[in-house]
Amino acid sequence: MNFYILTLFPEMVMNGLSTSITGRAIESGKLHIEAINIRDYTQDKHNHVDDYPYGGGAGMVMQAQPVYDAYTALVEKLGRKPWVIYMTPQGRTFNQGIAQALSEKEDIVLLCGHYEGIDERVLEMIVDDYMSIGDFVLTGGELPAMAIVDAVSRLVPGVLNKEDSAEIETFYNNLLEYPQYTRPPEFMGKKVPDVLLSGNHKLINEWRLEQSITRTKEHRPDMYEKYMLENPPKEKKKRRK
Ligand code: SAM
Repeated sequence: MNFYILTLFPEMVMNGLSTSITGRAIESGKLHIEAINIRDYTQDKHNHVDDYPYGGGAGMVMQAQPVYDAYTALVEKLGRKPWVIYMTPQGRTFNQGIAQALSEKEDIVLLCGHYEGIDERVLEMIVDDYMSIGDFVLTGGELPAMAIVDAVSRLVPGVLNKEDSAEIETFYNNLLEYPQYTRPPEFMGKKVPDVLLSGNHKLINEWRLEQSITRTKEHRPDMYEKYMLENPPKEKKKRRK
């Protein structure tokens, strides 16, 4: 799977994504992650990529030309059209379902804005989807792009090994994951629940499901509601008189 990050700060995204699991996946060839410096495409003799907003107001706006040229150079190099996502607090909120859908794409471009954002005209010309990572405003799209690359990458077959499997974890089946413990069995007087040391996998699975349901109900009532709709409690059979 290929990610192309259009940014003014390529070293920021590459430093972050070249470590740990994504770094390992880049090395093994499961992922291709390339940061493209939008500034390399400016035609401005002072290397500027931004200008004052028409109509006045605070801040600067990234100009259409360098963004458009960076994008078209990439399309020419690839010889096919990638899926383009603009990182913006105005987009739909990213979630695990969107990560799953994106993991099926071949080429994804993540376009990172800075300052007050990017000239609307180039967005209209090249963007397929607008994505936010939450209802807050960051200084740039780099951290959101890194979050999306990370979340999508771990769903690409072969990126995670068996130890860090993504099969049953938070958001799977509308539940939060159960609590996790590792050695030692006792830490500062706090013990690991007995059932996890029992070796009885049926009981362990029942305990984990129960814990998942309880914490989802407590921390994410919205998810709990969906879970209950999809998994209504089984009616007890009435006894014949
Ligand atoms: N003026 C813009 C607005 O009010 O919608 C915000 C611009 S923000 C300071 C600069 C850049 O950061 C945006 O162009 C976008 O790429 C990125 N950004 C900020 N918050 C974000 C979020 N919650 N999700 C995704 N990208 C975000």
